[in-house]
Amino acid sequence: MSKIAQKEDYVLAFNQFLEKKQLRKTAERAAMLQRILAFDKHFTIEDIITHTKPAISRATAYNMLTLMLQARLLVKHHFPDTIEYELAGRPRHSHQICTTCGKIKEVRDTQLITTLNTRKYTAFNLSHLAIYLYGECSTCARRRKKLTNKPDYNES
Ligand SMILES: [Zn+2]
Ligand SMILES: [Zn+2]
Repeated sequence: MSKIAQKEDYVLAFNQFLEKKQLRKTAERAAMLQRILAFDKHFTIEDIITHTKPAISRATAYNMLTLMLQARLLVKHHFPDTIEYELAGRPRHSHQICTTCGKIKEVRDTQLITTLNTRKYTAFNLSHLAIYLYGECSTCARRRKKLTNKPDYNES
C-alpha cells in the first residue's frame, strides 16, 4: 500500500478487499475498522477487544487482523514481549527496542528514512517496512549505572 494515508483510503481499500474475497461487509467489521483507524500508534489484539463497541470476541478480532494483514493495510510486529500492529500507511519510522525492559520507542530517523525513500530497488517497489534497533533504553542505563556505582557496604 503505497498511497494509503487517509482513513477513507483504508475503508475503501478494505471494502474492495472484502468484495474481491467475496466476504461480507458486516457492521462488526466496520466497527472494528473504525476502532483500528482511531489508533494513532501501535496496538495489540487486546486493545481492539477492549475498545470496540459493541463487544467482540477474540476470534472475531483475530479474524479482522488477519484480513487487514492480507489486505496489506497493517504491519505486524513480533517484538520480544508482545505482538503489536500498526497501520501500514503511517509515516516511516524505526523502533528502538530495549533488550533489558522490553520498552519499544518509535523514532523518526530522518536520514535513514530519506535513504530508504530514495533508494531504488531492482524490480521491486517498497511499500512499507519494519526497522528494529536493539539496545538499552536510558532508564535501564541509569538503573544499571546506579547499581554499579552503589557503595559496597560489605567491604567496610
Ligand atoms: Zn529499558
Ligand atoms: Zn511503529
